[in-house]
Amino acid sequence: MLLRFRTAATLSVIAVGSLTAQTVPSPASQFGFVPGTDRELADWTALSAYYEAVATASPRVAIDTLGATTAGRPFIMLTVTSEANHARLDELHDIQMRLADPRRVSGEAELERLVQEGRTVVLITHGIHATEVGGPQSAANLIYRLASSDEPKVREILDNVILLDIPSLNPDGTEWVVDWYNRFVGTEYEAAPMPWLYQFYVGHDNNRDWYAFTQDETIHTVTGAHNAWHPQIVHDIHQMGGRGARIFFPPYIDPIEHNIDPAIISAVNQLGTYMAAELTAQGKSGVVTSAIYDGFTPARAYQHYHAGARILSETASASLATPVVVDPASIGGGRQYDAAVASANYPNPWTGGEWGLPDIVDYMESGAMALLTNAAKNREFWLRNFYHVNERAVRGWDSWPAAWIIPADQQNPVGLAYVLRILRMADVEVHRASRGFSADGRAFAAGSYVVPMQQPYASFAQTMLEIQEYPDLREYPGGPPRRPYDVTGHTLGLLMDVETVPVETVSVALAELLEPDPIATPDFAFRLPDFLSGSEAPRVAMYKSWQEPMEAGWTRWVFDQHGLQYDTLKDSRARRGDLGSDYDVIVLQDQSSESIESGYESGRLPDEYTGGLGVAGAASLADFVRSGGRLVAIDEATEFVIELFGLDVGNAVERLPTQDFYVPGSILEVDLEPGHALSRGMDSRTPVWFWRSSRAFDVNEENATVAARYAMGDPLLSGWILGPQHLAGKAALVEIPVGRGSVVLFGFQPNYRAQTAATWPLLFNALNFRRPSMQDDGPR
Ligand SMILES: [Zn+2]
Repeated sequence: MLLRFRTAATLSVIAVGSLTAQTVPSPASQFGFVPGTDRELADWTALSAYYEAVATASPRVAIDTLGATTAGRPFIMLTVTSEANHARLDELHDIQMRLADPRRVSGEAELERLVQEGRTVVLITHGIHATEVGGPQSAANLIYRLASSDEPKVREILDNVILLDIPSLNPDGTEWVVDWYNRFVGTEYEAAPMPWLYQFYVGHDNNRDWYAFTQDETIHTVTGAHNAWHPQIVHDIHQMGGRGARIFFPPYIDPIEHNIDPAIISAVNQLGTYMAAELTAQGKSGVVTSAIYDGFTPARAYQHYHAGARILSETASASLATPVVVDPASIGGGRQYDAAVASANYPNPWTGGEWGLPDIVDYMESGAMALLTNAAKNREFWLRNFYHVNERAVRGWDSWPAAWIIPADQQNPVGLAYVLRILRMADVEVHRASRGFSADGRAFAAGSYVVPMQQPYASFAQTMLEIQEYPDLREYPGGPPRRPYDVTGHTLGLLMDVETVPVETVSVALAELLEPDPIATPDFAFRLPDFLSGSEAPRVAMYKSWQEPMEAGWTRWVFDQHGLQYDTLKDSRARRGDLGSDYDVIVLQDQSSESIESGYESGRLPDEYTGGLGVAGAASLADFVRSGGRLVAIDEATEFVIELFGLDVGNAVERLPTQDFYVPGSILEVDLEPGHALSRGMDSRTPVWFWRSSRAFDVNEENATVAARYAMGDPLLSGWILGPQHLAGKAALVEIPVGRGSVVLFGFQPNYRAQTAATWPLLFNALNFRRPSMQDDGPR
């Protein structure tokens, strides 16, 4: 439903004035409690109905459904601004689009007019991580205040700001977590963890999807909010652990990512510091800046490459909606600050005691109001800064090439299509050459793609296409490495096995290139290998415990996108035994032995959700393999399989101190064994994803075959590595016959966040296995 009030008749009604305040329904009238009450949570059904009611009642609020969530719920965005701004929203949108593309601005005079007439566009997003329950609850209070209040502070915001508010970035998760909590509140299981991922496929990793754009919620947000408006400011509201600061605002800690315009970084610092000052001035303790979080990976910061400032806020958690009491003695160190000690970036420490949802929602609302106030008061700054960031990108940076060429004749059409989809979804202009041409002396065929690096979002193209050289940051000189907040490599050409070429001179003029292709549809078009698609295809099962790792969910997503038929194998089925009657191949994703075997301990959750495979389930898996099945284990799950069969396989990088060996999420190279069934259809080398739980095997099993080894010398292709000699030449992918079946051990992650199209063939090859038929059954 789209409700916008633009006609003069509507305006004259609004001019009557303060009647709006009485007509907009309050959250309490809708839910029966004020959001931010201990042990009270509104679910998405209630919240989305509330926003419909507010949009109906308030001329300041319009509601749009941007699409459906993964599980089919409405994914909505609210547009909140003054009645007068709503009446000329199309015009204000046009101003914003011109500021976003300086090629459409004729000169200083027009720029001045646009800055005078434009509005700061702010996007606030709540609740991407559904167990961080404060975000979606605080959204209801914030929207009600902006829709109903006539206080000067609110008027100033409404007049100067167009707020796009996505009141839940994960409506499915908001519904599931709230319903789970409400089911057990007041019982012995109050605030127990929900035993499934709170985004259907990827759980917490839904906030690592801001360049791969795989999940429906990401796609709606990027196309319906970011690209539709290119906001100057984005505020992403989160919660963090509960033993340190009460709320974090930027500045972020080092390292910066060097393709982000310095004026964005400074603007982020300014705004975060302003918010911290506002809350501290209100007497709120425990506000920290310049700590904990970095802004390196574009997987969490789409807007930094689209001229927008990203303000992450992280408020301390309680136990879902249940208050907690924090012992002052337990408050201590954090990254780049000590929560027990006052310091320049943490001037007013929180000293412990009770903390609950009322505090969380109060801090969040205060943060959002401070951000909106800054956006309103500094409207001209934000618009001018936005324009000039885009202008510098359109001129091109000295550190960037003139263009990137993606040659037409690529071996990997899946990877190529994926890379092009990413660039286009990020609003990067990608041209196609209608004839052959040369660049830097190299000939490129007709049909090759050209990404000119003088365009508004060139910084996105540059960071995604170049090699990352992550700085060697240490806790102190000579000390252990300083852990990145996330990962250190994201080079698309490597992840997707696609050649990309930076060039300085191109022989073809832009005018001779075909216009940028529009994004026809954001769909993926992956094709399953023939050996997995026929009627004789292997029967595949993904193991799914009550502690399903996100990597298993990402794998389900890739299987689903390819149309692979597979079963979900739960503990209860595994314990029943005779798995061979149903399956040829069982996949265990990155999960510890303890988690696989034991799951949640008894008493923490209702019995039906506790326990793991147990002795019976493990024995049944062992029998499955010995009688002719295949078990595929990835990263940490290889430990479980090695223990299960007593295999003589060690991990060469286990227990090495981080000073000696460290790979916090990087792209490495492996050499593939020619002719091995697992490397079928691949070149002799491939990039692979190596991170926290990845391994380098020492294999002492007589019949084992090694399908991939980490490259000799320094296998790093992109990111950061310390101590490459510890894994160089070691086994990375191994097949070991066990009884009549076999196990396949991946020492790296063949499906990193649905991005490693380069190594999907290895994963699919590992599934290409059938149990010997009953007639072949000899004595066991
Ligand atoms: Zn979060």
